[in-house]
Amino acid sequence: MTDQIKPGEKLIDRFGRTVNYVRISVTDRCDFRCVYCMDEEMKFLPRAQLLTLEELATIGRAFIELGVDKVRITGGEPLIRRNVIKLFQDIGQLPGLRELVITTNGSQLPKLAQQLKDAGVKRINISLDSLNAEKFKRITRTGNLKDVLAGLQMAMDVGFERIKLNTVILKNRNDDEIIDLVQFAIDRNIDISFIEEMPLGVIGDHDRAEAYYSSDQIRVDIEKSMTLIPTTESTGGPSKYYKIPNTETRVGFISPHSHNFCDQCNRVRLTCEGKLLLCLGQEHSVDLRRVVRGNPGDMDRLKQAIRDSMTIKPKGHDFNLEAKPIILRHMSVTGG
Ligand code: SAM
Ligand code: SF4
Repeated sequence: MTDQIKPGEKLIDRFGRTVNYVRISVTDRCDFRCVYCMDEEMKFLPRAQLLTLEELATIGRAFIELGVDKVRITGGEPLIRRNVIKLFQDIGQLPGLRELVITTNGSQLPKLAQQLKDAGVKRINISLDSLNAEKFKRITRTGNLKDVLAGLQMAMDVGFERIKLNTVILKNRNDDEIIDLVQFAIDRNIDISFIEEMPLGVIGDHDRAEAYYSSDQIRVDIEKSMTLIPTTESTGGPSKYYKIPNTETRVGFISPHSHNFCDQCNRVRLTCEGKLLLCLGQEHSVDLRRVVRGNPGDMDRLKQAIRDSMTIKPKGHDFNLEAKPIILRHMSVTGG
């Protein structure tokens, strides 16, 4: 039995922040092995530990009934999970949902973009760190640039309302491509966000402190040849946005190191094994898999567990690139 949606119910934490956004990771697996995200040899979770698509849809529904109106499906690579479109269809039709969005590496979009759009996805984020096939391969280890570009083209063809590129810049790796990537976005009337690398999980490839390339530096680089006009636009999240005059393109910066954004945090994350993480940079969590598996069909119990979790949402993260990673889970587990 489900209790009624209490009109106007909201999830509010003990610091007065309203949580209206959940990011759901549907798998820790991926067809790529990006150097900042994964180790070359990764051990993935046994399938039995993953939430089923039905469990994911139930938890998504519980959040929406609690006032969450934005859901992002992510991973790992969400589009390699078998039958994942069913999850988009189930969540996409829930009353109260304002936005269903996805973050993807783009490799499966040639075959799935249309189905995503039909399921109600309006905006899509595609990760792209290089326009050079060799460099792209070095960063993603197993990815092919041409598949991602074909995926992006398909996303443009099916006509999502907005497409945004997500780019992680690493010093001496792809910092020479910043302008080319922005121009690439301008030419296609799409947006681009630059994300500072975060110390999540142990990666063998590079020293994160040495590879750090700040958002401020990226902005300086862009402003050598383009004008960036700050906007007050906000997604209620960590991105700061700028417009480039006479273009449709917005340039975003996600800067966990150089600009702390925790005081406005409006989100929580569900890992693919059902852990509700209250902060990307801390370990505070609640095991929602135990709640859904232990009490099948009991929506009240699930919703109460989510309400209760608000009391342990921490004030903020304290990322430190110099220290050994204190957060041992990789971004692919957390859901980026
Ligand atoms: N596979 C999908 C993709 O790559 O878009 C979705 C999951 S991925 C973990 C989500 C985003 O997290 C990507 O844009 C990726 O670049 C970013 N990311 C992964 N590891 C990161 C890290 N250590 N620091 C900052 N961003 C990271
Ligand atoms: Fe896969 Fe995305 Fe992580 Fe790259 S960033 S390894 S595409 S999950």
